[in-house]
Amino acid sequence: MAICNPIEPITEDDETLRRVLRDADLPPLLPALAHITGDLTLIAPDLQPPRRAKDAFIAPQGGMDEETQERAREAAFQALRRFRDGGCRVAGDLGTAEMRRLMRFLTGEVSEDYEPLLMQELGLAEDVGRRLATTPGAGAQVDHAVVVVGGGMSGLAAAHHLDQAGLSFVVLERNDDVGGVWFENDYPGCRLDTNNFAYSYSFAQKDDWLQQYSRQSAIQGYFRDVAGEFGLRDRIRFGTQVVEARFDDETCTWTVLTRDRDGTESSVTAQAVITAVGQLNQPNYPDVPGRDSFAGPSFHTARWDHDVKLAGQRVAVIGTGASAYQVIPSIADEVAELVVFQRTPPWALPAPTYHDDIAPGLQWLFRHVPYYARWFRFYQFWIAVDGMHAFAVVDPDWREPGSVSAPNARLRAQLTEHIRSQYTDRPDLLDKVVPSYPPYAKRMLRDNGVWASTLKRDHVSLVSVGIAEITERGVRTRDGVEHEVDVIIYGTGFRASDFLSSMTVTGRAGRDLHEHWNGDARAYLGITVPGFPNFFSLYGPNTNLVLNGSIFMFSELAMNYVLECLRLLGSTGRRAMEVRADVVDAFNERIDRANRSMAWGIPEVRNWYKNATGRVSQNWPLHTLEYWRLTRRPAPDDYLFL
Ligand code: NAP
Repeated sequence: MAICNPIEPITEDDETLRRVLRDADLPPLLPALAHITGDLTLIAPDLQPPRRAKDAFIAPQGGMDEETQERAREAAFQALRRFRDGGCRVAGDLGTAEMRRLMRFLTGEVSEDYEPLLMQELGLAEDVGRRLATTPGAGAQVDHAVVVVGGGMSGLAAAHHLDQAGLSFVVLERNDDVGGVWFENDYPGCRLDTNNFAYSYSFAQKDDWLQQYSRQSAIQGYFRDVAGEFGLRDRIRFGTQVVEARFDDETCTWTVLTRDRDGTESSVTAQAVITAVGQLNQPNYPDVPGRDSFAGPSFHTARWDHDVKLAGQRVAVIGTGASAYQVIPSIADEVAELVVFQRTPPWALPAPTYHDDIAPGLQWLFRHVPYYARWFRFYQFWIAVDGMHAFAVVDPDWREPGSVSAPNARLRAQLTEHIRSQYTDRPDLLDKVVPSYPPYAKRMLRDNGVWASTLKRDHVSLVSVGIAEITERGVRTRDGVEHEVDVIIYGTGFRASDFLSSMTVTGRAGRDLHEHWNGDARAYLGITVPGFPNFFSLYGPNTNLVLNGSIFMFSELAMNYVLECLRLLGSTGRRAMEVRADVVDAFNERIDRANRSMAWGIPEVRNWYKNATGRVSQNWPLHTLEYWRLTRRPAPDDYLFL
């Protein structure tokens, strides 16, 4: 596997072209072909996919009717043939007006403000790969300009952009490889449940994914490839746990204390610290009595014990969130008995191709049509991100239980019908699997029918009575029944709101970050915290996305902001910058208000997006474009300079 493969020339005959086009995703193919041929008749209005205003499900081919699909396929065939016969030469660059027309073929009329964001997502932005000449800090004696904590998704984005900027840096990673959660989560069935093309860096777009929802090994391989191909591996110190970061008021520098695997402690100094430790890495175990009394093996999905053999065993899985939902069908074949403990059923969007390989014709097109994979990625991003936002917005006048607005109720009805159709033969299960809470109040999963067929198997039982205790022999539920098992698997999620809990952070005047947060982490744009100069977070508080947005994109945007901060600092000749407390307060008021008006913010619902105070401290509730706007560059007035 590699990223950024060269496009292969087309040598195939007409018949082959017609065959591969049967597998094409037509809406993004037409602008891709227009892009490489300069022929804008390919994006004629009568070939445009319809706007998805009302339907919550993403229809195949963007909802194009059969007749339009046929005409689109014919137009694509003629364009491909001309491209081949012309020697596969890509026409000259299109102008801004033409690129705008290509984008609007997919998006409809959108604000011009979206254009730079979309160009970045297409990987065509002007500044992609630009070397930045930043000179942060004023002459401090430090080991590096920047220390990055974590070599997962955000950490690699930080490393690449720091490298581009020409800054000296080191990445400290506690694991023995890159990848973060994708390195740590290797449970059976682990795979992406959002579309792969949007789940990748804008600067490392990959056109040869084998699946739309890749397995863990493919994602982990992608991170390894990015680290290798962008020359980042040598900049990472593996097996190095950061235990503390301490700001020195005198020198305005940070000292980062680390512990290696053998317990050796050391330190590294820097002008700035960027934490990129993710939100989902501290396993959450259920707060039920008796967990230590279980006599058999037990482990968390994110700490899978591969030495425990499940074949022929009676296995309990606690939880039915995203991880358990993937584990359960994957181990069902080998275990003798499977007891699933469900506290709350999940909602899942139908995704018939969830486990499938990408059709061969589509793979061929990605390899042979320049920019097609990028337009495909862009289309996925567009329809899945801002396209879904309206379904989660709370209508304050809406009173129907189980939904938060008319569009949300429509989505609920569609999803419920989808569930019902799968359980017509098992009314006993149907009662347990239809969620009572609104769609998007918890994370939406993906369904290709495997969940229902697994729950219906004879040796699988779904227990929806609450757990009273873990006993020596198994799990006792509140109805007094003791479910005897040999192995217990905790699919009970993460302590997501405990931001940066694995390290002590001491800021200006000895301020302790965790005391400052007091269990309610807040940061301006998820990035900067008052009292902690030159300390930046990626994927920090309130930057998680629910509507299948690309957290890759958010980390890249946050990283752009960090670089602009460092550039600003350099231009002032000052040593450090610290966000003003009133700026963070005003920002959080806005974010909290917006989160309260989203399905995941309603008080009735428990989810991992909220912290112990009930505040949504994880999610970004506004449009993607707003984060783009806010992270373009820091406003100097928002900061104090030291
Ligand atoms: P999760 O979504 O938080 O699910 C935890 C499950 O455990 C829920 O069903 C929860 O029930 C249950 N639970 C927790 N405490 C319990 C208790 N005391 N008794 C009974 N049940 C209890 O955690 P996750 O499944 O690990 O997923 C977390 C996040 O990781 C996902 O939302 C997603 O962002 C990410 N993830 C992504 C992928 C991917 O494909 N990209 C795959 C896996 C995970 P309640 O719902 O009632 O709380």
